[in-house]
Amino acid sequence: MSIARSPSAAVVARRLTKRFGAIDASCGITIELPTTGVCGLLGPNGAGKTTLLRMIAGVLPPDDGELEVLGLDARRHGTSIRAKIGSLPESAPLYPELTVGEYLRYRAALIGLGGRGAHEAIQTALERCDTLHLARRCCGTLSKGMQQRVGLAAAIVGDPAIVILDEPSVGLDPAQIVMFRRLVRELAQRRLVLLSSHLLGEVESVCDTIAVMARGRVLVHESIGAFRSRTTAGRKIVTEVDRSLLQEDDLVMEFGALHEWPLADGWMRVEFDAPARDVRADLARTLSTRGIGMRSLGYDATGLEDVFIELVRAGGDVRAVSSAGSDTASDAHAHGPGEGAP
Ligand code: ATP
Repeated sequence: MSIARSPSAAVVARRLTKRFGAIDASCGITIELPTTGVCGLLGPNGAGKTTLLRMIAGVLPPDDGELEVLGLDARRHGTSIRAKIGSLPESAPLYPELTVGEYLRYRAALIGLGGRGAHEAIQTALERCDTLHLARRCCGTLSKGMQQRVGLAAAIVGDPAIVILDEPSVGLDPAQIVMFRRLVRELAQRRLVLLSSHLLGEVESVCDTIAVMARGRVLVHESIGAFRSRTTAGRKIVTEVDRSLLQEDDLVMEFGALHEWPLADGWMRVEFDAPARDVRADLARTLSTRGIGMRSLGYDATGLEDVFIELVRAGGDVRAVSSAGSDTASDAHAHGPGEGAP
């Protein structure tokens, strides 16, 4: 029996479970993923990210629950699903004795491509990953970063409807990471890209939605914008203003400021209760009209790492405190809205 799903869903999982002996690697996961865009899976070690990806890729049968991938029941149509999914596991599964060209021909054959079609698909994939010049090199002689890029090329041979990338940027140098993120965004215009990562900055900069996992559960699945807005919930708005033209308590009286602290250099730090009222626009306008200098205004700096740690802690896994992404989120940007929380 097929399960109810929205027409735009590439993956629909309901109460998906997977056990390895006594370990519950997937504890009743329910999630729906759209046909395009990038979804980032983020979670501490052992959270169940790889297990979920492997079930979606059709290489690990679920024990219980329902899983539909590209409209097909994952239990009954594993082979068809595998042919429509390109996957790059944690370390690229290259055969060291094959050349890159031979390896990609082998991957093309696995999804039923041969002859001219295979040749064109391989050329396109190698070009997109900037690896065409490696076609005659033996896989075993490539550096780790080159192997990752070849692995990515292999994953996108034949234009798969879903691309699964398990910690894909491990081993890439900074220039390659930029190229990789650009490629992922480009791929996601016409397909679903599922990406597992420990790097919050990577997820934030490349993904449309984020699914935070811990202990085999999806704790939240929401747009990057919604996730980012958690950093402001319950926080304070802080500003620093020139106090030479202000009387004590001016901003308390007029804007309901919570605290004012005179700073040593003639400026004043003022805090507002953000959830009560977003005073930023009014404050900026008023101060500017009165010619009062302002050198900063915004929410106090609670990083996304803190949000992630709090979420995972609330989900029962305090180990995340030491494993939150160390990447910086400062250069990140949001993409379009994604799925709501499951
Ligand atoms: P990491 O970030 O470390 O890669 P992860 O979030 O991808 O972790 P999984 O690899 O899915 O987590 O593992 C989830 C749990 O299932 C872990 O406790 C792991 O030890 C266990 N597990 C995964 N695969 C197997 C297996 N083949 N046999 C036994 N246990 C397994």
